[in-house]
Amino acid sequence: MANDTNRFQAIISHCKEYGFIFPSSEIYDGLQAVYDYGQMGAELKKNIKDYWWKSMTQLSDENIVGIDAAIFMHPTTWKASGHVDNFNDPMIDNKDSKKRYRVDHLIEGFAEEQSATGNEQLAKDTLTAMDALIAKDDFAGLKKLIEDNKIKCAISGTCNWTDIRQFNLMFSTEFGNTVSSDGEDNKIYLRPETAQGIFVNFLNVQKTGRMKIPFGIAQIGKAFRNEIVARQFVFRMREFEQMEMQFFIRPGTQKEWYEKWKSTRLDWHKSLGMPADKYKFHNHVKLAHYADAACDIEFEFPIGFKELEGIHSRTDFDLKQHQEYSKKKMQYFDNDVDPETGKPFGNYIPYVIETSIGLDRMFLAVMSQAYTEEDLSTEEKKDERVVLKFPAKLAPIKMAVLPLTKKDGLPEIAEKIIADCKSQFRCFYEEKDSIGKRYRRMDALGTPFCVTVDHQSKEDNTVTIRHRDSMEQERIPIDKLKEIVLNAIA
Ligand code: ATP
Repeated sequence: MANDTNRFQAIISHCKEYGFIFPSSEIYDGLQAVYDYGQMGAELKKNIKDYWWKSMTQLSDENIVGIDAAIFMHPTTWKASGHVDNFNDPMIDNKDSKKRYRVDHLIEGFAEEQSATGNEQLAKDTLTAMDALIAKDDFAGLKKLIEDNKIKCAISGTCNWTDIRQFNLMFSTEFGNTVSSDGEDNKIYLRPETAQGIFVNFLNVQKTGRMKIPFGIAQIGKAFRNEIVARQFVFRMREFEQMEMQFFIRPGTQKEWYEKWKSTRLDWHKSLGMPADKYKFHNHVKLAHYADAACDIEFEFPIGFKELEGIHSRTDFDLKQHQEYSKKKMQYFDNDVDPETGKPFGNYIPYVIETSIGLDRMFLAVMSQAYTEEDLSTEEKKDERVVLKFPAKLAPIKMAVLPLTKKDGLPEIAEKIIADCKSQFRCFYEEKDSIGKRYRRMDALGTPFCVTVDHQSKEDNTVTIRHRDSMEQERIPIDKLKEIVLNAIA
């Protein structure tokens, strides 16, 4: 098995070669940390989205509805949410290379190098010291930690660092076609998270949907962050997609809901057949300005355990802030009876538990879990294959139908099978190349079922179905096909 850096590179190449992900505007040499999803990637991404949407709304045990808010929002939204003042990352520049680093990434990179070369203790101590300094916003201390450990810039190789400064991650643009003299009036931000679109619509949804607390609002949409260290493929992009859900609850019940959503979300990942040992929780040391508890669900990517999803207990911070800035009441009247007082709970600003997962990171998690290089060599000949072992329900193509030859009425039978199934799942027709080559191509795209139509099919209405992971083949009646595939993707 290739080492993890090689494996990560192999996955990136595979995504490009098989139409999953391309660098954005590649003919102009690409745009850093922006990617386009190709014909296979768009299908896989949509399937992940649909699976999340359905589990979080339609199938959820809780009362959760979905919305689709605009990317542009009134600029005051971001003042109220704290993003204008607080959505910063501490950065440091190397004076020789002029390269800018996120301080935590620079130190983490150093710690990773140390543990890779056997200095586990130093790595651990450095990370502990970093966490403590970040928690106190102690920038001088962080700079000293970098200098004391002689952490170098990867480009210049020097330790010639500037002081640490805060850098706001929001993109801005102008709204409308008139620009005021100071350029500020028309300044509008590209949303850095989808959550605020939910908060500003809290009352709209609650009232028009006659929603009773506890209830949730889910949303999938684009978010934009001017990430400084934008590398690691789709793990960290400047334009990405989030799948977020804000769950509105009675104040005082947040601990119990926080724990419940932690386990519900982990179960969601496991329900896709993702292995439990690839996941772990990481509790936040430094809580964001809005949170009273927060953790990440980390996944073991080929680049190590990293954040895939965040679960945040956001208190009533956001709704309270919007109430203050908009002067509109963000209250809910709870007429359930409080057993302690015997009276209704009455008016309050709800508390919120948020679950927020990056769609692109989930794509990368699914892709890295699925990507498998298999040695199929026998004594007679060397052989290998690359297969994407996607959960069948996420696979871009569910069934490929392959006539053995291009003549003798076999393509017609294949087309008829596709016509019968395509309204229910994605099918693919291929008549070029040998069957073996066609199987390998479908393995590389992660297609769970290949169906071969041969001369016997004409006589007895049977076909061969080949299972992607086991490569086993069985002869079955054509009229059983749809059921087999539908069962696998249910
Ligand atoms: P990180 O610490 O990795 O920057 P974050 O804690 O800032 O992430 P959140 O604000 O909690 O992330 O966003 C929720 C989710 O959105 C993350 O768990 C991640 O999956 C996704 N996400 C955040 N930033 C990016 C990005 N630049 N590219 C892709 N996905 C992202």
